[in-house]
Amino acid sequence: MTARPDAAIRALRVAAYRIPTDAPEADGTFAWNATTLVVVELDAAGETGLGYTYADASLVRLIDGHFREQVEGADAFAIGQLNERLWASVRNLGRSGLAACAISAIDSALWDLKARLLDLPLARLLDARRERIAVYGSGGFTSYDDARLREQLGSWVHDGDCRWVKMKIGADAGRDAERVRAAREAIGEDAGLFIDANGAHTPRSAIAFAHHVAEQQVGWFEEPVSSDDLAGLREVREALGASGQAMDVAAGEYAYTPDDFRRFAEYRAVDVLQADLTRCGGVTGFLQAAALCEAFHLDLSAHCAPALHLHACCAAPRFRHQEWFHDHVRLETMLFDGAPSLKNGEIVPDLTRPGHGLRLRAADAQRYAI
Ligand SMILES: [Mg+2]
Repeated sequence: MTARPDAAIRALRVAAYRIPTDAPEADGTFAWNATTLVVVELDAAGETGLGYTYADASLVRLIDGHFREQVEGADAFAIGQLNERLWASVRNLGRSGLAACAISAIDSALWDLKARLLDLPLARLLDARRERIAVYGSGGFTSYDDARLREQLGSWVHDGDCRWVKMKIGADAGRDAERVRAAREAIGEDAGLFIDANGAHTPRSAIAFAHHVAEQQVGWFEEPVSSDDLAGLREVREALGASGQAMDVAAGEYAYTPDDFRRFAEYRAVDVLQADLTRCGGVTGFLQAAALCEAFHLDLSAHCAPALHLHACCAAPRFRHQEWFHDHVRLETMLFDGAPSLKNGEIVPDLTRPGHGLRLRAADAQRYAI
């Protein structure tokens, strides 16, 4: 094992792929029938690092036009230094949203590249605290009929041994209580049941709904109201706590910067903070969020993109679980060699491979290229 002294980044490649879902998918505030994946690859000293984000294909132009010249020629071992330049360079574009997604994909590729250059699995390079992580099955789209809802959630518990599952609510308030009851029946008494409204409720209607489904032992209410409404999240959280409901309020999937995470924590808006490394600055940003969780005594849950989160989650303090999101699991299994598979409710990094171990199957991906 020899670290290459000359590890200037020689090339950046970026491409977008649009992959149709296996059925129409919807939540409380949005509907979609395809998912766009933007992949970044970086070459240095004979190795290639891979990162990606789930965003819009316009990111290809942003990365090609804005970020390429800063990344090419930079030292692959100086990730922090390059990150400072990348974040500083988007001051006038706005750090959040697409700029953060682009930096996230680049940062993940940088960490994969560095680990490969050192011939280490990424979890080892990041000083892993655990060798496996628990996942919760996540889907239960509002576009599903009850039979599909029961079948999907039930199979995560009964076949995948997941300890928890999550369903979407908020599209049809009249039907939601019955959907939650059907989900509880499908997964049995012992598994944890999570609901995610994607911001569909007002504080008042969220609190009323939580009381309405109290019998179903819901353990987690994600984005009961918009994540932009920190006061509303806190109101829901305090009301549930005051009434003795053991239901955690969770949010954080739209946090892009450390300041976004800090505001959730300072405002006491959530019981569990979620972070998504395809949005919040890659591996670097995810571990910054985890450190902030430690300082505020909050647990951390990883949002979506399980294949790319796995090694970073092994290293994160106060880590609770990773989302095993139906749409991304399907896509990552189709397009990446080395994508993890679910066993005993957990996923395990392959410590025999350097980096995060993922490789794009270019020939399989090509038919989805846009
Ligand atoms: Mg969510």
